[in-house]
Amino acid sequence: MSAGIVFDIREFTVHDGPGIRTSVFLKGCPLSCSWCHNPEGRARQPQIMRSPAGERVAGKEYTAVELAELLNKQADILRANEGGVTFSGGEPLLQSEFVAQVIDLLDDVHVLLDTSGYAGEDDFRRVAERSKLVFFDLKLVDPAAHRRYTGVDNAPILRNLRVMSVIGVPFVIRVPLIPGVTDTDANLAAIVDTVRGLPGLVRVDLLPYNKAAGAKYESVGMEFKPDYDETRELNVNTAILQHANVPVRIA
Ligand code: SF4
Repeated sequence: MSAGIVFDIREFTVHDGPGIRTSVFLKGCPLSCSWCHNPEGRARQPQIMRSPAGERVAGKEYTAVELAELLNKQADILRANEGGVTFSGGEPLLQSEFVAQVIDLLDDVHVLLDTSGYAGEDDFRRVAERSKLVFFDLKLVDPAAHRRYTGVDNAPILRNLRVMSVIGVPFVIRVPLIPGVTDTDANLAAIVDTVRGLPGLVRVDLLPYNKAAGAKYESVGMEFKPDYDETRELNVNTAILQHANVPVRIA
């Protein structure tokens, strides 16, 4: 059994999937999105967060058994409220073997994987195939723009999206709307072209820009440097998806 590093566990969440859920945030992410609002989730190792209220360590090691036992204590209440457990991050697939081991030890709890989709195919399948629902981020379809704003190539993400559509697990596409970056009509139209008709697609969620994105950077010794205009009006163009008969929701 392997150990994993978790930077937060939030109980009784209502925004991380159906019903009432416990969300587990795995530490480490291979992307460096300039709008990331969880900078403490980026580095793989535990780190100190400093604020006027004091210091705390973001990142705690759990064995798979320890984490599963903690989650199983809540299983009855999660099931009773049509909820379950959400594995998020950071990028949970960076610790795919650990997450898979935890899932295998859970007592019949609905599992949701919340992922950037950036992972090797084996890592992606290992967790997605064990999940009941996947939240799959799709930020930018243009490869150059994706590299510029997230620091990585989107080819593995688009490959895993094709894998997603054949493994028989329903999925929601999640698009963070970043002003002038991901919210352009051109990007939304490209997303429509990419996802329309994919088997298993439940809907597309548009997530309006979080204006508090930079709030936690100083506490982990990082500088928030968005290379887009935060004050620009957001283009929330749901019509572009509706016209293509793609179910859409503003999340
Ligand atoms: S994928 Fe998510 S956690 Fe990773 S850098 Fe981007 S916004 Fe942050």
